Amino acid sequence: MFSEQNHDERQKIKKNYLGIGLIIFVQILIIWGLYTTFIYNNLRELQNNLRNLAILFWIISEICYIRTQFSDPGEVQQKIVPLKLLHALKDLQLLQFYQNVCDKCNSWKPPRAHHCKRCNKCIYKMDHHCEWTNNCIGALNQKYFVLFLLYVFCYILAIFIIHIIGIYDYYVTNQQHMWNSLTNQNFGIFQVLLIIIFCTFFLFFVISMLWDQIQVIRDNQTVIESLQGKFGRQQSFFENMKQFMGDEKWYYQLIPTTPILKLNYAEIVYGESLVNMGTSYLEDIIYDEKNPKSVYFAEFMIDNYKKKVS
Ligand SMILES: [Zn+2]
Ligand SMILES: [Zn+2]
Repeated sequence: MFSEQNHDERQKIKKNYLGIGLIIFVQILIIWGLYTTFIYNNLRELQNNLRNLAILFWIISEICYIRTQFSDPGEVQQKIVPLKLLHALKDLQLLQFYQNVCDKCNSWKPPRAHHCKRCNKCIYKMDHHCEWTNNCIGALNQKYFVLFLLYVFCYILAIFIIHIIGIYDYYVTNQQHMWNSLTNQNFGIFQVLLIIIFCTFFLFFVISMLWDQIQVIRDNQTVIESLQGKFGRQQSFFENMKQFMGDEKWYYQLIPTTPILKLNYAEIVYGESLVNMGTSYLEDIIYDEKNPKSVYFAEFMIDNYKKKVS
């Protein structure tokens, strides 16, 4: 038992080092990418403007990156099944979906929570554990993660275009002067070609991750739920966006401010068993505010929200 615990600890430390190593690697790449745009002696106006844009995207993505790493992803704070919820469910034959206790951390596990082995916590709407940010991605930090992907993509694209124009100028316009006419240093061309390869790889990598995120938000799922074939309530794309990016004006969803989120632990996740029972029936009970029974859920939601902000 003791050695098993020790082994677990060692594994955790090893994995933590992996996360920290990846963060340092990302930071070096990002700063080096910007540095390579200063290799050129002369930049076209377009390249100059792109570099200014890249600096702006860099600053915003850096804020998003730091907030993703250090924010609580949504640890379930309610450790036992709330009595209010049990009371509300008494007559509804839904109790089975709310009585799960996590066998790893022994606390109550609401339907949309998932235990993260790496963080050893149950995380509400856990999307995945992200090594690149050394943190879980869940209900409370998914906004920062999505924005990080968006802005870092714009950043890489700007750097990529600057260098494509630079290479074009090198080969076509200044062929007779060779590389020295464009660079201060001899190993400039090597760096530029290397950064173009990195940019190409990360453009594909980031856009595929961003696309995954857009898809799960569209379907009101987390990546884990999508693998399990489960999903949340189906509503419009913009309504689903609010659940992940905050229930506020659209422009707040584009900047890394703390989102206004009402964590509703009573929110159900639809799987085969629930679909077989009939989803419209369940939606009516849980989301129809005019239905007296759903009042319990609303109160429950507000209680948790208050606890979160106080
Ligand atoms: Zn757990
Ligand atoms: Zn985790």
